[in-house]
Amino acid sequence: MKVLVLGAGVVGMATAYYLERAGHEVTVVERHAGAADETSYGNAGGLCPSFAGPWAAPGMVSKVLRMMWQADAPIRFRPQWSQHQWRWIVRWLGECNATSFRRNKLRMQRVAHYSLACLRSLADEEGLQDFDFHADGTLWLFRTAQEVSYGRLAAQALDDFGVPWRWLEPHEIDAQQPGLITRSAQVAGALYLPADASGDSHLFTQSLARLLRTRGVALQFNTTVEGFDTEGDRILAVRTSAGRLQADAYVVALGNQAPFLLRPLGLNLPVYPLKGYSISVPLRQDAPDIRAALMDEHNKVMISRLGSRIRAAGMAELGGYGLHADTAQRDMLLRVVRDFIPTGMDESQVELWAGLRPMTPDGPPILGATRWRGLFLNAGHGSNGWTQACGTSRIVADLVSGRTPDIDLEGLTGERFSI
Ligand SMILES: Cc1cc2nc3c(=O)[nH]c(=O)nc-3n(C[C@H](O)[C@H](O)[C@H](O)COP(=O)(O)OP(=O)(O)OC[C@H]3O[C@@H](n4cnc5c(N)ncnc54)[C@H](O)[C@@H]3O)c2cc1C
Repeated sequence: MKVLVLGAGVVGMATAYYLERAGHEVTVVERHAGAADETSYGNAGGLCPSFAGPWAAPGMVSKVLRMMWQADAPIRFRPQWSQHQWRWIVRWLGECNATSFRRNKLRMQRVAHYSLACLRSLADEEGLQDFDFHADGTLWLFRTAQEVSYGRLAAQALDDFGVPWRWLEPHEIDAQQPGLITRSAQVAGALYLPADASGDSHLFTQSLARLLRTRGVALQFNTTVEGFDTEGDRILAVRTSAGRLQADAYVVALGNQAPFLLRPLGLNLPVYPLKGYSISVPLRQDAPDIRAALMDEHNKVMISRLGSRIRAAGMAELGGYGLHADTAQRDMLLRVVRDFIPTGMDESQVELWAGLRPMTPDGPPILGATRWRGLFLNAGHGSNGWTQACGTSRIVADLVSGRTPDIDLEGLTGERFSI
């Protein structure tokens, strides 16, 4: 079958990979000059199924409102004159309760664990080694007594989800991760999550692009998708800046742009951006060899070592599509990294980046068929898209090929939003 994949982020490229492996003739259409130039470029690097969970949680509403007045808050809300934003917020509010949280978390856990397994076998089978992959777990660090209580509660919940963990007292933390200094951050306890890993999603996607080229997949860069031509319940073609492109099936992996392209088809995709920032800092020879990903609960910042760089990412701003970043975010992220890794960074070469997490209001992505024949979705991966990309892409490739996916799709399709 001829399949067009729209979007060359980590999700689109992984979809192209599994489709090509299933024997299809695949073309990827992307508006940028290369793969992974938007949200998949500078994320925190965490491949963390243990963490995968919704942003909609009990207590989040009061947290967001409280932080609205705090200058350096890790969470920000900027109201917009946008129906799309307010519709999304209303749905999100409806999910901020204990019952929905548990249901959504279970759904996300199902796909995230499957996904990490898919990524590992893809990397092994194809010999992909150049994306700074480490399988050394996550250290979730708690600074205050209140955070420690929260961490202990979270640990109990992990048992329900079958996620392995170990609680570490302050004197045990530095031994778990030699080189890590937790004194100045006054860490009061930590959860070690051994099932997690980390890696660079930009490098991974670029490697995949090179591999796919050798297998005859057409990567049509610098081409913007503008809309769909339809007839009855069928997609006839995709209109692009390079003309009309026709196929037997189309997979939408357009990240934050998916709702705009799908609206004219009557598909109202509840995906809204949650902005975040990252810094990448080169490491000097004398830098400590930190392998585990670090999650600083106090500042909601994740730090991971990606080869010869440290990547730190965080902040969550609900307020439109702008990508501006300035020194305030850079300084905040640097301060947090220095708390744990006080030496070994070359701070003269900090790369600052902003990206938009494509969030669904409940958390899980939106996968699979639509009411349009031949049109499939692989969208809404939110804050866990790197973790979930290989699993969701394999699922969507299975669906396009008429095969039953390996995991149950309950709660992972557009059905829950009547799409
Ligand atoms: C600060 C931050 C930290 C994060 N940390 C993590 C983490 O530690 N772990 C994790 O699992 N996830 C993390 N994420 C989330 C993860 O990065 C995203 O979920 C993931 O990158 C989404 O991938 P995507 O392919 O769906 O979107 P994108 O990478 O945005 O890809 C969509 C592609 O579609 C293209 N496109 C859009 N419109 C058009 C059009 N009209 N025509 C042609 N092409 C088009 C875009 O150019 C883009 O290349 C983080 C995100 C942020 C912002």
